Amino acid sequence: MTPERDGKLMILLVDDAPTNIQMLNETLKDGYHLFFATSGRDALRIASESVPDLILLDVIMPEMDGYEVCRKLKADPVLRNVPIIFITAMNQQEDEAIGLELGAVDYITKPFNPTIVRLRIRNQIELKRQRDMLARLSHLDGLTGIPNRRALDEALEREWRRGTRSLRPLSLLMMDIDHFKAYNDSCGHLAGDDCLRVFAQSLKIPLGRAADFVGRYGGEEFLAILPETDEKGAMIVAREILEGLAELAIPHPASPLGMTVTASIGIATAVADRGHEHSWLLQGADNALYQAKQEGRNRIVAAPLLSS
Ligand code: GH3
Ligand code: MG
Ligand code: MG
Repeated sequence: MTPERDGKLMILLVDDAPTNIQMLNETLKDGYHLFFATSGRDALRIASESVPDLILLDVIMPEMDGYEVCRKLKADPVLRNVPIIFITAMNQQEDEAIGLELGAVDYITKPFNPTIVRLRIRNQIELKRQRDMLARLSHLDGLTGIPNRRALDEALEREWRRGTRSLRPLSLLMMDIDHFKAYNDSCGHLAGDDCLRVFAQSLKIPLGRAADFVGRYGGEEFLAILPETDEKGAMIVAREILEGLAELAIPHPASPLGMTVTASIGIATAVADRGHEHSWLLQGADNALYQAKQEGRNRIVAAPLLSS
């Protein structure tokens, strides 16, 4: 899911023989943004810096051969989905089998025909585009267009792990619209859907920091993940969210709390430690939300986390 540069997709060409790189460069330079590496080590470094859309990988290279580079790429969570095409003078079927077994999407033998190389790359790039689109869609909530539960779970796991290294506090806001069942009952389910969409969009403004992550956790529940944010900071964001919702003034004729839609927010803050799973923090935010509901709704509660 890499951004395109000048509208062109990025291909990393790896070959220890500069003449081969030159030939491939001639073949591909018009359609793609090209990077070059003449050793396995350089290939790995450039791949992690630029996350290309495809890697064309020679097999026989001194020090680290293409198979080894492929193994390392496949073991890297960020790079494992970058398609790899082996391009090599090793033309035995067993060699091809090894390459495909390692997870390469294609295997081209030298001497190569430039047109066929171009077309095979085009096909693989198209497949990658489609995979990326599916991956994006599978992480978005269909109703509101913001990240879904799956995306939140992945982001939380990522931030929890990052937190065990940075030792900076991580805060969660668990948000739930108040008396939403009554809203649906009085205004209709379609109006309920609209309300969820409007609330979801309104969350973007208070969650301005690039590292912040917000999504629909399920039903009328939303979760915000605030890395490197202590309880005080989380409280400020939560207040802005409730103020934003109040300003939207979505009429709620059936609310016992007032005339407009309100929400409750539970906050949990912790420094991630290896003794706990991220679900511990999630449970803390959920408990705080429960308390906010118990205390009358339309409010924020930050509950202390008790070590288990
Ligand atoms: P509380 O203040 O305690 O949170 O009460 P509540 O009525 O908001 O909570 P409850 O869990 O009883 O009801 C949640 C409602 O949210 C019921 C469900 O139909 C509605 N809901 C969940 N997902 C959607 C959706 O996608 N669209 C609409 N319109 N309603 C939804
Ligand atoms: Mg609710
Ligand atoms: Mg609920």
